[in-house]
Amino acid sequence: MMSDNALLQCQEVSKQFPVKSGFLGKKRALTAVDTVSFSLGKGECLGLVGESGCGKSTLGRMACGLLAPSKGKILLQGRELPLACAQSWAAGRLQMVFQDPFSSLNPRMTVAASVAEPLAARGVGRQERLQAADTMLSLVGLEGVGRRYPHEFSGGQRQRIAVARALMTRPDVIVCDEPVSALDASVQAQILNLLCDMQEQFSPAYLFISHDLNVVAFMCQRIMVMYLGRLLEDGPRDELVKHAAHPYTQALLSASLGERVTGAGSPLQGEQPSPLHPPKGCVFHPRCPRAEAICRKEVPEWRVLGENWRVRCHFSEGVA
Ligand code: SF4
Repeated sequence: MMSDNALLQCQEVSKQFPVKSGFLGKKRALTAVDTVSFSLGKGECLGLVGESGCGKSTLGRMACGLLAPSKGKILLQGRELPLACAQSWAAGRLQMVFQDPFSSLNPRMTVAASVAEPLAARGVGRQERLQAADTMLSLVGLEGVGRRYPHEFSGGQRQRIAVARALMTRPDVIVCDEPVSALDASVQAQILNLLCDMQEQFSPAYLFISHDLNVVAFMCQRIMVMYLGRLLEDGPRDELVKHAAHPYTQALLSASLGERVTGAGSPLQGEQPSPLHPPKGCVFHPRCPRAEAICRKEVPEWRVLGENWRVRCHFSEGVA
């Protein structure tokens, strides 16, 4: 859904990668993200959920300025985002927290130096940077550890360090890409609570990406459901969890939340098709228990189900 006072807007964004396939290594285009539009408001936490390989991380990297879209535009407060954000007006306004904090931290640098790094591009002096890093490390629950190295910490503590680093420039938007999926269940809750606390304190908007609908439903007020590079449903969390309209969302609910919700559908059958050979018509039709002839021929349009709630299915009862 697009909104006029959005902080971050993705407008009809697509991303294609050139790949070689087949015995003769013929060049083809793999469409990882296909004509996706959404907006993120100030201080909002927007969830993006879907199976592995559906294109959600690619979309997250584009939203953060790390990848250029093949088509479409990404705007931050109305200005188009340049690719090399670190050297532009957008420097520090968008940050990312990755799935694996160990590979995102330099093993040769102390954690204070790593956390302080985003301030170096702003010309802040070394001593001041390190002091600010120590303060931020205390805020994320790691007091007095700045002179230690990443290998001396557990996975959950390393993710706290990654959150501290992302917050150093007081960004407008943080893209959290599967931030808890590499962690034990007990530690996951601590990191999710930390992200909530930090949002209360510093007010960044989050684009929160996960394959786990439970986690997304805990964190986010609004949820987008992605499949094979397309958004299929987008709506407020409470409506979506109670009355999911798209069969794919219903199947995800069934897998994540089971019988605790009324909207849960039958579990998913089969595998997600290759993005090199996306199905014609509705991309979900090979796995959809409700598919009919029209689904194999025609791509469903968006149908509006309510305020900020839309779905792409021929058989949803929308008003448009
Ligand atoms: Fe299923 Fe058809 Fe709806 Fe696609 S359009 S989700 S195949 S019923």
